[in-house]
Order: sequence, then C-alpha cells, then structure tokens
Amino acid sequence: MRGPPLQYDAIVVGSGFGGAVSACRLAEGGMRVLVLERGTWWGAEPGRRSFPRGLLGVARSVRNIRFRRGIVHRNLVRDPAGLYELSLYEHLDVVTASGVGGGSLVYTNVMEEPEDEFFDCFPQEMRAGEMRRYFDRVRSMLRPAPIDKATALPPKNEAYVRLARAAGREDNHEHPDIAVVLGDPDEPRTVVNAAGEVQSSCNFCGNCVLGCMEGAKTTLDRTYLPAAMRAGAEIATLTEVEGISPTNTGWQVRWFDHAAGRRRAGLADRVVLAAGTLGTLRILLRSRDRYRTLRGLSPRLGAGFSGNGDQGALMLGSSLFFAGEQGPSFNAFIRTRTSDGRHRLLLGEAGIPWTGLGLPVHVARRLVGTHMLLCMGREEPDSGTVTWDGNDLSVDWDSLGDSDLFEEIEHEMDILATTAGASRLVSRLATSPHPLGNATVHPLGGCGMGDSPDTGVTDHRGRVFGADGLHVADGSLYPRASGLPPSMTIAALAERIAELALHS
Ligand SMILES: Cc1cc2nc3c(=O)[nH]c(=O)nc-3n(C[C@H](O)[C@H](O)[C@H](O)COP(=O)(O)OP(=O)(O)OC[C@H]3O[C@@H](n4cnc5c(N)ncnc54)[C@H](O)[C@@H]3O)c2cc1C
Repeated sequence: MRGPPLQYDAIVVGSGFGGAVSACRLAEGGMRVLVLERGTWWGAEPGRRSFPRGLLGVARSVRNIRFRRGIVHRNLVRDPAGLYELSLYEHLDVVTASGVGGGSLVYTNVMEEPEDEFFDCFPQEMRAGEMRRYFDRVRSMLRPAPIDKATALPPKNEAYVRLARAAGREDNHEHPDIAVVLGDPDEPRTVVNAAGEVQSSCNFCGNCVLGCMEGAKTTLDRTYLPAAMRAGAEIATLTEVEGISPTNTGWQVRWFDHAAGRRRAGLADRVVLAAGTLGTLRILLRSRDRYRTLRGLSPRLGAGFSGNGDQGALMLGSSLFFAGEQGPSFNAFIRTRTSDGRHRLLLGEAGIPWTGLGLPVHVARRLVGTHMLLCMGREEPDSGTVTWDGNDLSVDWDSLGDSDLFEEIEHEMDILATTAGASRLVSRLATSPHPLGNATVHPLGGCGMGDSPDTGVTDHRGRVFGADGLHVADGSLYPRASGLPPSMTIAALAERIAELALHS
C-alpha cells in the first residue's frame, strides 16, 4: 500500500441506486465525498466504454464469474472493467451489473413503489406515509412514467394485453412506471433531464438490458451521479473495496485500484456501503471473518437473504407474440394478490434483445414466437442465508424456502403459455441442474433493517448496529422480499438515510 491515506467526510462504496443517491445528497449537504466504484463509465460519450452488442460483445463484457458449487470454488475475473457479474451458487444464479450507475445501466427501467403495508416489516420509526416524500424525491429526479400515458403502445405490449385478456387476467393487467424518456420512436427528440443532462427519447430498439447507447434510459450516471459531482463528490472508478476497519476517529477503507494495479486506503468519518446486496455482504463478512476488523455486528448478518421470488421462463413457439424487441424491455405485467388483497406476484414478458444480440437472420426467424417470461413474487422472509466460507460468500438458498410461491408462479406461467399456444415452456431458467434451482436479478436482504441487533443488522437510519459511522444503503437492507422491482425503494431508502445522516 503506497501513498498517504486520503481523508473524506464520507466514503460511499458503489454507485448503484443506493450509492448514487447517497453520494449526491451527502455532497449536496456539504460533505466531502469519495465514491469508490469497481466498474467503469459506460455509454456513447467520448471516454466511456461502449455498451456491448452482438453475442460475442456480450460474452466479452462479462466482468467475472463466481462459481461456488460442490467442491468447485472459482472466481474468474475476465475483465475488471466488464459490465455483468454472474454468481453461480449451488441452487441460485445471480446476475448483477458493475459500472458507474450500477444496476441502472442494464436494468429494465421499472420503478415500482410497494404498497403501504410492505413497510410493516421495517423498523417502527419508518412507515409508508413517511416514505412517500422520499419516493417523491426519487420521482422528481428519475421522472418515471407508464408507457401507455406517453406514447402509443408497442406491438408487443398490445399482444401482452391481448394475452392477459384471453387468459382471464385482464383486470390484473398494468403498465408500470419506467424511467425512460418516451416519445414518438420514429422521431426521437432530446430533453434536458432533472439533473441538467441531455437525453434522447427512446427509439424502441429494445436493447435496455444491454445498455442504452441512445441515452434514453434515465440512468444514475445521467442523474444523481452528475449532480453529486457538481456538488463536489469525487468518483474513483476501477476501485474494488476489500475491507473496512474502525479507527480512533472514524473508518479506514481499503481497496484494490485495478487501473494502477495496487492497493490503496482512505479515511472517512463515515462509510456508506452501497455495493449491492452481495457486494456489501462480501465487504462486511470478509472484514468480520477474514480480516477480523469488525466485531460486535448483529448475528442477523447474512440472514433473510432472498432472490425476490424471481423466476424466468422461455415460452417457445407461441402464436400470440411478435417482435419481442420492440419498445422498452419490460413494461406490461399481470399482478396477482393474496386473498386479503396484498401484492403476491408480478408476471411480464421481458423482451429479449434479438437485434442487439446480432443473431443471424435464419436463427432470428426460427426464434419468432420465442419469448421470455419474468416473474417476481413475495418470497418468505427467511428463505436464504449468506455466510463467509473462508474465501468468499456462500449462499444457502433453494426454492423449497417458499415452495408455495414457486408453484404459484409455475401455475401462472403455464396458464399464459397455454393461452399463447406455446409448444413448450422452459421454466426455471438457471444454470443449476438442481430441480430446486433458480436465477435472480434482484438479490435482496442479508443486512436487514430492524428495531434491534436481535432483529436486524442496521437500524431505521441504515446505521450498522455496533459500528458507529458505518451505514448500509442498498438492496441488502430489505427485511423481506417485496416481490417487486426494488430499485425505486432502494433509492428512496437511500434518500431517507442520507437526510437523517446529515441531521444527526
Ligand atoms: C438485467 C436486469 C434487469 C433489472 N431490471 C430491474 C427493473 O426493471 N427494476 C428494478 O427495480 N430493478 C431491476 N433490476 C435490479 C436492480 O438493478 C437492482 O435491484 C439495483 O441495481 C440494486 O441497487 P443497489 O444500490 O443495491 O446495487 P447496485 O445497483 O447493484 O450497485 C452496486 C454497485 O456497487 C459496485 N460494487 C460492488 N462491489 C464493490 C466493491 N467491492 N467495491 C466497489 N464497488 C463495488 C458494483 O459495481 C455496482 O456498481 C434489474 C437487474 C438486472 C441485472
């Protein structure tokens, strides 16, 4: 480790939904902020790396693959500046992103607010009514809106509406808010967004999950992060945090600088961990169990982990759908509820970016009628646990943790596939050969908020119990799965945590 340690008011680890909001609000509140992000800048602008196109491009943009099954434990870092991280555990595949803007770079733009009763599982100081103003702040920055209010429905959404109707699910059909600049796809326009950045409107190319080269997705690197930089925050890229330790006056953060090829350290009065659920758990568990620099954390650390009830399926040979790539990836859902009216699951068609994947015409022709269904549901709170196995995270999760939910998901998918006349439904898209296996793009929990260390890892302000000045502000805070896309809630929680941190 060379060079004098850097000194900040706050070091924020990660630049996704939790990190970008934290950095922006803490810097606007007058703090000297350093953001450490292990990935790089992406987009069409000079100096940024272009989002991947074509199958080879996508394969080349994989950052790393963590493989932890049976006795085979490997972490293959292909390219530290890559975009996608695949974590393949015994029964669960986890897909996450790496880069300035975190998951917003590749997400399908859905900004969904949970219903009020979801907040009943959070500490008693936090209630839905109070959260509303933080959701409003996120809304005014990201300006999400449903597609049907902004433009004519793309053909694939019309087809999904027809399918919902034919399947007897018409009343449960809805278009969620999406953070995309919408307009006439044939006549793209430019707008200045809430952070003063120029964006173009969506051309319906359908490449959302490969990254938006048009700048139509209202990602964090176009909103909260430029606002943070204008307020003085520094963003250091390719900096991967390894461990943290308390000092006499605050915290020391140690990271590997992939660009310089060396280790560095910085000091701060407070640290905000926002490295995403697995990233934050890795830093906390490694610091506690390997470096032994963190003591006295809640025994709940790692408990309450879930994949948000995610399940994907491929519907082959359907006659109802066409042009799956037209329009933003994922903006029409069917929702089911429990008998007492609570949200249970969302099921939609996630457009596969056939054009962006650059498939040969004859292959693409054979794939007409092939569509991906994506579902998420309100998984039971204690279905998974994350621990440190000596070298890396070990994730103990399988779909038996909430078999009722996954049976219900299969049932709903079957109804849609049958109604769509599909020749086959390949469900549980995952690399695990195990029948209880599944895949998620929404890993949540493990540092759940609670009223005390017996029930949670942090308090309602995101402060880690037993570690003064250490905060968590990302998806790991969820005490239980919401069964909804979580980004909006993560951003709103981070808004609240930052506001309270500035006034403590
Ligand atoms: C394909 C796909 C589609 C999705 N679609 C939606 C959607 O439509 N709506 C929705 O709400 N959610 C969606 N999600 C999920 C969403 O992206 C995540 O829930 C969200 O990004 C989580 O926010 P976060 O702040 O917890 O972490 P992230 O956004 O994952 O940010 C964490 C950041 O920390 C960085 N990091 C990790 N470890 C370290 C380290 N050691 N040092 C430094 N930096 C580190 C990472 O590189 C990353 O940039 C989708 C995800 C994927 C993969």
